[in-house]
Amino acid sequence: MKDLSSIPVQYLKGVGPARARLLANLGVTSVEDLLYLFPRRYEDRRKITPISRLISDGAQTVSGFVRAVGARKGFHRSRHLFEAVIEDDSGRIKCIWFNQSYLEKYLHVGMQLVLYGRVEVFKGHLQMVSPEYEVIDKQDAVLSTGRIVPVYPLTRGVSQRYLRRLVHSCLEECAGQLLDVIPDDIRSRQSLEPLSFCIRSIHFPEDDKAREAAERRVSFEEFFLFQISVILRRSVLSGRKGCPHVLPAQLLERFRRSLPFSLTDGQLAAIRDISADMIRPRPMLRLLQGDVGSGKTIVSFFGCLAAVTNGFQAAIMAPTEILAEQHFTNFSRYFSGGLFGDLRVVFLSSSRPKKERGELLKAIVEGKVDVVVGTHALIAQDVQFKSLSFVCVDEQHKFGVKQRAVLTAKGMPPDVLVMTATPIPRSLCLTLYGDLDVSVITHRPQGRGQTKTYRFADDQSDSVYQRVAEWVVKGTQAYIVYPIIEESETEDLKAATDMYQRFVSSDFSQLRVGLIHGRLKRDEAKEVMNRFKSQELDVLVTTTVLEVGIDVPNANVMVIENAHRFGLSQLHQLRGRIGRGEKNAVCILLSSASSVDAVRRLDAFVNTHDGFEIAREDLAIRGPGQYFGRQQHGLNDLKVVSPLTQLDLLETARTEAGDLLKTDAGLKKHSLILQTIRRRYPEYLERILAG
Ligand code: ADP
Ligand code: MG
Repeated sequence: MKDLSSIPVQYLKGVGPARARLLANLGVTSVEDLLYLFPRRYEDRRKITPISRLISDGAQTVSGFVRAVGARKGFHRSRHLFEAVIEDDSGRIKCIWFNQSYLEKYLHVGMQLVLYGRVEVFKGHLQMVSPEYEVIDKQDAVLSTGRIVPVYPLTRGVSQRYLRRLVHSCLEECAGQLLDVIPDDIRSRQSLEPLSFCIRSIHFPEDDKAREAAERRVSFEEFFLFQISVILRRSVLSGRKGCPHVLPAQLLERFRRSLPFSLTDGQLAAIRDISADMIRPRPMLRLLQGDVGSGKTIVSFFGCLAAVTNGFQAAIMAPTEILAEQHFTNFSRYFSGGLFGDLRVVFLSSSRPKKERGELLKAIVEGKVDVVVGTHALIAQDVQFKSLSFVCVDEQHKFGVKQRAVLTAKGMPPDVLVMTATPIPRSLCLTLYGDLDVSVITHRPQGRGQTKTYRFADDQSDSVYQRVAEWVVKGTQAYIVYPIIEESETEDLKAATDMYQRFVSSDFSQLRVGLIHGRLKRDEAKEVMNRFKSQELDVLVTTTVLEVGIDVPNANVMVIENAHRFGLSQLHQLRGRIGRGEKNAVCILLSSASSVDAVRRLDAFVNTHDGFEIAREDLAIRGPGQYFGRQQHGLNDLKVVSPLTQLDLLETARTEAGDLLKTDAGLKKHSLILQTIRRRYPEYLERILAG
């Protein structure tokens, strides 16, 4: 039997070098990868509604031909509106999309489309607002209509149609050759369906039952492989020697006295956990969980202090330059004043001039620097430490396991603290992060204002901005956030820039407005951010660079444009930027999205402010199916919440993995398992080696 993982996807008919490169963007390079590129969701097209029978209630699927198209400016001049009239045998309906001017290029009269979206009444007529659409070609109508249809994650240049056809022919040709990594006895004990049936059904399920069986089997496989690596890792780790620290009780006391506020119980408990770990000779590997704004930074600061007062070095790594710089400023401030001796804190990012960088690196390796704060620039090969004994990785889900491992390897080995705002229930945490110890900060500091969230349709945005301007005039600062997605990057950027212009030029010209987006030079972005922080700017129009960590306590208003384009967890991160001071805060979502998913997601977001609830809801809405795509895996990432709905299965996988390793500790008799982990989830093995 051929090993499908060693056959390049280019071997398949219909895949030339150019397509192969595009598929690689989806993480697909081999035939096996393609078969494991799972749908993000499914659409049940066995029930297509005739247009004449549509009702204004919930999302429905229609299929028809484009009879007319047109674009115009909406109410509000910065908004672009695209309309198409769709006709089937029974009637016609108008569909409209906001701010998606690229549709002009894609949708033409005469095309056959399947559309999925919410139907609403507008001026007495039914219309579909921002439906998802798909162009149907005669030759692949069998794959795209009249059945449960897979909807894949896409990348620029790869269409739903193409992928569906490719996966389908690949299944015909190769599904029977897949090697099953789950040992026979486990498979029968857990009543798992045969692999080839499952892989076929995960792509083109006959019915819901087949799809469920397939999902169960595929989840089990992933959990099982993951648990094997977690258990292996724990056994490697418990054998390691680290660097014991001496931590006298008065250190914590002095630390507490140096702070302008008193620590919360959660922060204190986390600090005690960390102290206990750092005293031991075994390296700490601890996950600190705490919702946005719960005050994790100060806890990591104590870890640094513990290291440097023992004469060692500490490093803290953050995912963006802006956030790293914010930490640097805070840390420098905390350490100044000589309370803890004469300590040197430096900032390292890729934007440092070469000469300066050289001097910094020299000082670091010679031990003249105590704390290094930086971005991923910290992991560059030429960054070497003299005696690194504490490492903190902030917003750890933004980093790959490998990046963290590289940083860790520069230490003695160091005590490692990873921090995340992704809430995971305790039992799940034990299973997923069985190789990490966990501390949780459950409550935010007291005396914080409340954040209220509202949702408005796009056509109400004029009055929304009027209100925002009034609030700002009264002294608060505001964020206006635009999503940027790959498919419409240029338009998105333009929308943000237009909004900025609009503020600058007309209605709100008395306000001071800044703009930050991903194409700005780093220094420019930084400068704008700093001006916002020091209240030289009132309003910050920004794309998602804002997402993590930023702390400006006077900013208490946020407007999120096209809010439906964000996932729930992302929205939660964004909203975490406001309400950080004592004042109340307002978050406004602007969206006219009408798909059932979007509406449910946004409603859920308006109604709950608890990160844990939000994670749960996110999962309930999106369902486990879409979490299983290969490229988005990495259980270290945010997607980790996916197993929430499948705790039983996860625990079963853990038990089976444990039992198997008890009888075959080195996997000598199960080399396929090790090979599969190495190939499919190299990051799992890095977890093992990361130490
Ligand atoms: P996150 O957990 O999201 O990283 P931060 O560490 O950025 O949160 O803290 C958010 C804000 O709360 C900061 O301005 C910080 O100075 C402040 N803060 C942290 N701990 C406390 C506390 N115990 N009491 C009051 N404010 C605090
Ligand atoms: Mg933070």
